[in-house]
Amino acid sequence: MELYKHQNIKIYNTLTGEKDNFKPITEGYIGMYVCGPTVYSNVHLGNVRTFMSFDVIFRYLKHLGYKVRYVRNITDAGHLENDADVGEDKITKKARLEEIEPMEVVQRYTVDFHNILNTFNFLPPSIEPTATGHIIEQIELIKTIIDNGFAYVVNGSVYFDVHKYNKTNNYGILSKRKLEDLIHNTRELDGQSDKKNPQDFALWKKAEPTHIMRWPSPWSDGFPGWHLECTAMSTKYLGDHFDIHGGGMDLKFPHHECEIAQNQAAKGKTPVNYWMHANMLELNGQRMSKSTGNTVNPDELLSGNNAFFSKAYTPSVIRFFVAQSSYRSILDLTDDGLLASEKGYNRLMEGVNQLDNLKTSKTSSLDIDSWKQKCYAAMNDDFNTPIAIANLFEGVKYINQIKEGTETISDKDLETFKTTFNAFVFDILGLKNDKTNTASGTDKLSGAVQLLIKLRQEARANKDFALSDQIRDELAEAGIQLNDGREGTTFSTN
Ligand code: AMP
Ligand code: ZN
Repeated sequence: MELYKHQNIKIYNTLTGEKDNFKPITEGYIGMYVCGPTVYSNVHLGNVRTFMSFDVIFRYLKHLGYKVRYVRNITDAGHLENDADVGEDKITKKARLEEIEPMEVVQRYTVDFHNILNTFNFLPPSIEPTATGHIIEQIELIKTIIDNGFAYVVNGSVYFDVHKYNKTNNYGILSKRKLEDLIHNTRELDGQSDKKNPQDFALWKKAEPTHIMRWPSPWSDGFPGWHLECTAMSTKYLGDHFDIHGGGMDLKFPHHECEIAQNQAAKGKTPVNYWMHANMLELNGQRMSKSTGNTVNPDELLSGNNAFFSKAYTPSVIRFFVAQSSYRSILDLTDDGLLASEKGYNRLMEGVNQLDNLKTSKTSSLDIDSWKQKCYAAMNDDFNTPIAIANLFEGVKYINQIKEGTETISDKDLETFKTTFNAFVFDILGLKNDKTNTASGTDKLSGAVQLLIKLRQEARANKDFALSDQIRDELAEAGIQLNDGREGTTFSTN
């Protein structure tokens, strides 16, 4: 169903600094790229928050009937310490410390990443490309950028010429930084002397003899710069110009600024129409970050095994907690916040569990259509999940009022209400119902057979042997044997 034809989405676009009307390049289709993790350690909840925000966006766009190609990469090469152009490769460093191969590091933490995403009920992206799988594409891009005059080769390394680029383009278009300010604020670092200017960034680095992750290229045995992989992989799968590019706020500069520069220099086009940046998760008022060690890993929060929180929380409660604030707000991970979310989540699920038991009336006193519109309007307004959730709680209020008989709902409205409620809770927010009070298949069968056993006993007590035999025989025909014993009647199935 093409619901999107009836919705007007606005997206806060870092490029324009405004909420822009969203219009895909090709009607009905959306290309979305999100920078994935660097797989050198376990993901922390900050990483999870960013990916979760884009998971909900992906889910909503799909729900509206768009054909979304969602590409989220795995960074398994080229990302150096401190996100800089000098220093050790993050993956190689971990490999050295753990005395394993870099690709063992990559495998271990890619598996961990996928496990965590499954635990939190993420939808898999459409394509999950790796940097090491796209070295050839990156080399080809560098050749084009050199040919177009925006990069230079020094001692086997290739650098992007930011100053030259800025003469005809705007380096800073995304981050709103000015090159003059950058020049003013940059100190020359050791080892950067190959560069014409300290603002230039590496497209290709010649590998030191000890650098294990290396590939042949026209310039040296080496490895690609970190920013290049995302340009290579996004455009390979989504085209030179696509709809949405996302990532955490910390990637805006230099990573995304450099992506724009690379694309513009190679293809003469700005790559992306809508740049989206998710805000940071904090712990104790400070950004959660691998480098400072201020982190909580998902496993620690799920098990309750950590120094910060009073108890364990389920994946759905954590998902609900994240969705209760806008992806553009800073979110502080606190015990009080999680406890409040747990209560809210339970209340929501109690509502969900009542949906099938609601009695209908001839007419509705509630305006379900306008409630439904408010749910969609919230998501259309830059994916405002907290407002969407507030509307779901309004829906929980309706459920209670219908039960108490103070409001009424018609058959048709109940159908709309249920469909919308379930779509938002499960398909869009991606929650699971930890509170289902429906028994498992075995429990259900057992409950039903116990009732028949009781009815048979009553029939016997009333000397209605025809009925008691009928119950036994018909159950036997259905494959359920009743066994009369000293302790009473039990049953078995074949
Ligand atoms: P990394 O593996 O460090 O490249 O990070 C993967 C993703 O997580 C990037 O989009 C980062 O912006 C994001 N990220 C890192 N730290 C946080 C945080 N504290 N809160 C939210 N997102 C984060
Ligand atoms: Zn990236």
